Amino acid sequence: MTNPHYPHLLAPLDLGFTRLENRVLMGSMHTGLEEQGDWQRIATYYGLRARGGAALIVTGGMAPNPEGGVFAGAAGLFSAEDIANHRIATDRVHAEGGKIAMQILHAGRYAYNRNCVAPSAIKSPISAFVPRELDEEGIEKQISDFVTAATRARDAGYDGVEIMGSEGYFLNQFIVLHTNRRTDRWGGAYENRIRLPIEVVRRVRAAVGQDFIIIYRLSMIDLVPDGSTFDEVITLAQAIEKAGATILNTGIGWHEARVPTIATSVPRRAFAWVTKKLMGHVAIPVITSNRINTPDIAESVLAEGCADMVSMARPFLADPDFVAKAAAGRAQHIAPCIACNQACLDHTFSGKTSTCLVNPLACYETELRIEPARTRKKLAVVGAGPAGLSAAITAAERGHIVSLFERSNEIGGQLNMAKIVPGKEEFHGLIAYYQARLHDLEITLYLDTTATPEMLSGFDDIIIATGVTPRDPAIPGQNRANVLTYIDVLRNHAPVGPRAAIIGAGGIGFDVAEYLSAGDHHTAQDLPLWRQEWGVADPETSRGGLSPMGPQPLAPARKLTLLQRKPDKPGKGLGKTTGWIHRATLKMNGVKMLAGVNYEKIDTDGLHISFGATHENPTLIAADHVILCTGQLPERSLAEAVIASGRKAHIIGGADVAAELDAKRAINQGVRLAASL
Ligand code: NAP
Ligand code: SF4
Repeated sequence: MTNPHYPHLLAPLDLGFTRLENRVLMGSMHTGLEEQGDWQRIATYYGLRARGGAALIVTGGMAPNPEGGVFAGAAGLFSAEDIANHRIATDRVHAEGGKIAMQILHAGRYAYNRNCVAPSAIKSPISAFVPRELDEEGIEKQISDFVTAATRARDAGYDGVEIMGSEGYFLNQFIVLHTNRRTDRWGGAYENRIRLPIEVVRRVRAAVGQDFIIIYRLSMIDLVPDGSTFDEVITLAQAIEKAGATILNTGIGWHEARVPTIATSVPRRAFAWVTKKLMGHVAIPVITSNRINTPDIAESVLAEGCADMVSMARPFLADPDFVAKAAAGRAQHIAPCIACNQACLDHTFSGKTSTCLVNPLACYETELRIEPARTRKKLAVVGAGPAGLSAAITAAERGHIVSLFERSNEIGGQLNMAKIVPGKEEFHGLIAYYQARLHDLEITLYLDTTATPEMLSGFDDIIIATGVTPRDPAIPGQNRANVLTYIDVLRNHAPVGPRAAIIGAGGIGFDVAEYLSAGDHHTAQDLPLWRQEWGVADPETSRGGLSPMGPQPLAPARKLTLLQRKPDKPGKGLGKTTGWIHRATLKMNGVKMLAGVNYEKIDTDGLHISFGATHENPTLIAADHVILCTGQLPERSLAEAVIASGRKAHIIGGADVAAELDAKRAINQGVRLAASL
C-alpha cells in the first residue's frame, strides 16, 4: 500500500532476486566499533537501525587487506573468527527485518599506513605517507583481495557488498590522471584507467553469484583538478552495470577536495542534481546522497526523479527510527542530524568512537540505556538550553513528571544564537524537534520565568541548567557605546557598522565573523550562490566539476578583524573536519585574523592593540564597533541559592563547566544525568 506521507520514499524497490522495503539506504559510516570488537554492541547498533526501517544498511568501510585499511589495524574480514563475529550483526539485522551490505573500502594512498599502495607513488595532500606504486602482480593481488572480502561477506551473512569507488580512495585513484600516471594497461587512456574498478566488480560478481547485492559507489563529481568529465562518468557507470553491479551509489568529491560536501554550511540536497544527470543512462537503480536529512527532502529528491533511492548516513546516528517515524506521519519527532560532524566524523578523525551530538545514545546503546524509572519522581529543570532540554526530555521519556523553567520567552538557549549564523540554519530544526518532544511528553514549560529556590520546593530532584554568562575581558574602554557583546549581535540584532573588530577567535568569534561578513547572503540557503562561492561547476562542462574561475565569493558585507591573544593559528580549536571550512570562508570574505595580540584600549577610533610580551608595535584597528567574544563563565547563582537553602541540585551544561562548553557536552550530560535519576 502506498504510504500517504512519503509515497516515493516508502515505495518498495524490486531488485529481481530480492526486494527492498523502501528507498532508504543507511549509508556507510566509520564508527570505530568494529575495531573494538564488542559484537553485541555492534549488532545492537545496526539492529536498531534495521528495526527503525532502513531498507538496506551499509556498514563502515572494511579493509580488503591490511595495506588497504584506512589506518594500520583497520577492521576487515581476515579470519574465520571475523566472519563469525560479523555474523552476529547480520543475524540481528535480519531478525529485525532488515538487510545489510558490507562496504569494502581500500584506502589506497589515503591509508594512514606506511605500507599503503596506489597506482602511482604520489602522496596526497591529506596523507602522511608516500604510497608504493603497484606492479602488475600487486594489482592482481588487490583484485583478488576484493573478491575474497566479498565472498567472506557472503559467508558472514551479508546481503551484499558496497565497493567503494569514490571519494578519492584506491579505485578512484586509478580512474583519474591526478593520481594515475601509469603507462601500462592500468594507466594512460581512460579505458585503461577504469579497467581496475570494472575488473573488481566483474570478478566479485563471478565469485558471489547472481543473488547477492553489489553496490558500486561511483564518484560523480570529483571536485579535484584533472577529475573525470561527465561523459567519462557515464562510460564508467555503464561499464560497471555491465560488469554486474546491482545498484550505483553516488560519491561526491574526493577527501582532499577544497570544497565542503557534507558540512552543515552545504545546502540541503546540494548534489542531487549531479546524480540526476546519470538517470536514464543506466538501467540499474541509482542512489543519491549528501545533505539529505529529512523525509521531506528525501521525498522531494525522489519525486523529482533525481534518483531511485536516497542514502542517508548521519541521520541514522541522530535517530535510528527515522524511517519508522516518517512512515507513521511523525516526522517532527525525528531527531535531526544538523550536519555538525562534531560527534561523528570529528570523533573518527580523533580516534574516538563515533556518536551523535543530538543523540548521545548512538553507538552507546548497550551502555547508556533509557529505561522506565523505578520510582516516578517530580523533577524541576531550570534552563531550556541544550542541557536542560535533553535532561527534561530524557527524564520524561522515563516516566518522570517534569517541569521546565526558562527565563526567556523561548526554548533553545544558545542554540537560538547559533541558528542565525549563516551555515548553521539546521539549528532551527533541532529547536523545533525539542519543541515537539516537550509537547508530546507533556512536559510543563514555564517561559518568561526566573526560577527561585522557593519555586523549586516540592520537587524530588532539581536540575540546574542555567547556562553561562559572558566573560569580562576587562579591557580599558569596553563600556563605551561602540562596544558590543556577541549576545548583542546574535540575540538582540544590534546594528553593526561597516568596520568591526572581534575580540576572541573561539567558536563564537568565528560565528560572529561569519554572520557579520555574510550580511543578507546566506549561501547555505541558496544553492546557485553556494556553488558560485565554492567554484562548483557542472561536471558536464567542467572536468571534475571545478569551475575554471575558481571560488567566486560575494563581496563581504563588512571589513572585519578577528583577534586572539594566543600566538596559535586562529580557529585551531574548531572541529577537526569543519575548522578548515570556517577558516576558508573567513579568508574568502577578507577577514583579517591576528594572533598574539594585547588589547590596550578601546576608544572612538576603534581597538588599540600591541604584540607580544613587550607590547611592541602599537596598532590601531580602526573600527565602528568592537565586539567581545571572550568566552563564558558558569551562571550558578540559582544553584548556589538552592544549595544554600539546604537542598541538593544537579548542575549540568554551562552552569557546571563553561570552559569549551559546546552543545555536544551539554546534551550528553543532560541525557546521562536523566538516565540515572
Ligand atoms: P572559547 O572557544 O573559549 O573562545 C573564547 C575566546 O576568547 C578565545 O579566542 C580566547 O582567546 C578569548 N579570551 C578568553 N579570555 C579572554 C580574556 N580575558 N580577554 C580577552 N580574550 C579572551 O569560547 P567561545 O568562542 O565563547 O565558545 C564557547 C564554546 O562554544 C566553545 O567550546 C566553542 O567551541 C563552542 N562553539 C562551537 C562552535 C562550533 O562551530 N563548533 C561555534 C560556536 C561556539 P585568547 O585567550 O587567546 O585571547
Ligand atoms: Fe549529525 Fe552532528 Fe550527529 Fe554527526 S554529530 S550525526 S553531524 S548531528
